[in-house]
Amino acid sequence: MRSEFAYICPSSLGEALEILKDNGERARVIAGGTDLMTEIREGKLGADFLVDITRIPELRFVREEGDQICLGPLINHAELASSGLIKEGGDILGRAAQNVGSPQIRNMGTIGGNIVNASPAADTIPALVVLGAKVTLQRKGGERTLPITDLYLGPYRTVIEPQEILTEISFAKLDDGWRHSFVKLARRKALAIARINIAALAKVEGRRAKEVRVSVGSCTPTPCRMGEVEALFREEVPSVALIEEAAQRVAQEMVKRSGVRPSTEYKRPAVQGLVKKALLDVFNLSHDA
Ligand SMILES: Cc1cc2nc3c(=O)[nH]c(=O)nc-3n(C[C@H](O)[C@H](O)[C@H](O)COP(=O)(O)OP(=O)(O)OC[C@H]3O[C@@H](n4cnc5c(N)ncnc54)[C@H](O)[C@@H]3O)c2cc1C
Repeated sequence: MRSEFAYICPSSLGEALEILKDNGERARVIAGGTDLMTEIREGKLGADFLVDITRIPELRFVREEGDQICLGPLINHAELASSGLIKEGGDILGRAAQNVGSPQIRNMGTIGGNIVNASPAADTIPALVVLGAKVTLQRKGGERTLPITDLYLGPYRTVIEPQEILTEISFAKLDDGWRHSFVKLARRKALAIARINIAALAKVEGRRAKEVRVSVGSCTPTPCRMGEVEALFREEVPSVALIEEAAQRVAQEMVKRSGVRPSTEYKRPAVQGLVKKALLDVFNLSHDA
């Protein structure tokens, strides 16, 4: 069933924020529409009008500001995957974006939509979590910037108010010492939403790990880092045994945070295996090392 709604296409951020100021409760923002069209088709829009933000030039940028990489929410997955700046200072985000859907979806779907839709399976979110990304939300007459992990209340639920638009995503550029791994388990290769996705970053100096960051998508009620597991590696020489212990602990942590569910039986060993794969990859180790 299709719902009836009006369509507005503002050409500046100021205009969009003005519209949302008085009508936010009755409106939905639309960017690429790859998530929202499903809701519209199912008659679940729950709004009187759509505010299309794709003609707002202020929301489409990739730039360097000091040690930060700053992105507008309208940057699509294909652009993320091909950006030289992202390759240089946050390649894990490009890798995650490369894993999204199909070429058509990557050309339409935006990073802003992926973040705000708050699907537990969203591919860019674990990458942004390990990058320590911040998001800026603007409303008419004000803005707030918060860590991406503070944005989420639960699956498909965020702290974003109806009057607000996500206007910027930023993270500190990684220097040369960082390695990354992005691993995704899905039902099939093409067009599949992740069952589990894992983003791992590691900084190694000499043979020792200085810092490790891990985030596992689709497995915890809200996106987060695995702090206790990351601490296992600090100043240690990474080994297969340590990685196996870490992988086991991530799986335990998932069950602790999400509780035992029908899916736990397959998810526990799957998470364990995928975390191991991601960490072996990030430390450039093989199973027999
Ligand atoms: C066939 C198919 C395959 C897919 N595969 C994957 C996949 O492999 N991995 C993956 O992560 N995703 C996948 N997706 C989901 C989707 O493509 C992404 O989540 C996409 O990034 C959403 O962006 P969008 O611009 O299309 O968002 P839209 O559909 O336009 O919006 C999504 C939500 O975000 C809100 N919104 C958008 N932009 C803003 C903003 N700037 N400020 C405030 N609110 C905003 C909208 O109101 C809406 O609630 C798939 C979708 C389809 C249809």
